[in-house]
Amino acid sequence: MSPPAEPERLASRARASYLGLALGDALGATVEFMTPEEIRATHGIHQKIVGGGWLRLKLGQVTDDTTMALALGEAILGAGGRVEAQAVAQAFDAWMRAKPVDIGNTVRRGLLHYRHSGQTQVPLDEHAAGNGALMRMLPAVLATLNEDETEMQRACLVQAHITHHNPLSDAAILCVARMLRRALAGEDLPGLYAAEVLPFLQAHPVFVARKREENPSGYVVDTMRAVLQALFDNHDFETTLIDVVNRGGDADTTGAITGMIAGALYGEAALPARWLRALDPGVRERCVKQAEGLVRADT
Ligand code: MN
Ligand code: MN
Repeated sequence: MSPPAEPERLASRARASYLGLALGDALGATVEFMTPEEIRATHGIHQKIVGGGWLRLKLGQVTDDTTMALALGEAILGAGGRVEAQAVAQAFDAWMRAKPVDIGNTVRRGLLHYRHSGQTQVPLDEHAAGNGALMRMLPAVLATLNEDETEMQRACLVQAHITHHNPLSDAAILCVARMLRRALAGEDLPGLYAAEVLPFLQAHPVFVARKREENPSGYVVDTMRAVLQALFDNHDFETTLIDVVNRGGDADTTGAITGMIAGALYGEAALPARWLRALDPGVRERCVKQAEGLVRADT
């Protein structure tokens, strides 16, 4: 593993990761719930941030994947850089009250559970293995980069268990957290595979894909298979993101997760300028500010 990155280099990677999340969300949302065939018939290869989709988004608009991450980031920054269950649950609840453009069923159920019980953890549920806690986890990783790994894991799972409490969701979250931490420190693609992905697939063989993962659902196993295939079949930010969203299905969420990892891995200079120009300027600014604030709050 590379030596710890210098502060400016780390801040740059953190910005790239947060912007990568938003870019993947905005790019993928246009084709969410379409099959690869439908995407080909409508867009050829979908590679422009244009809005639309089933949510009828404005150009450059993002969805719950990015806005829940921003809510989490605000809660962490408001608590002086600490990931506190109560503050995060309140922030997610406020996010839901503000009528987001979309919201997953497990997220809604979990936040109603919090609203009615005051509990910041839903009961363990073997069947609720959605990707909704994975898609929004980045701020918990950025806030704990200088802590030991146990604290990073605690932070990631505290935010997760407010709505998702499931062993497969937890396993995917911890894998992506470790990948992000390593990529932010300067690890390259083969290094990331050897150090984190191979051991993860050996420990959790359900995530091994037997064929090309197309039309991935919101089930965290399908999501991770598509994300990992796109990441390790490609070698730059742009083609990786184009690959994953053109698989259709839960494309905004595979885009968001792939985007945060690829952003951390390939860095700010790799983010396509035309995508950054198209992204909602307010969202772009909040991602940058939070990335810098979360990394700084932790040093
Ligand atoms: Mn979404
Ligand atoms: Mn989605």
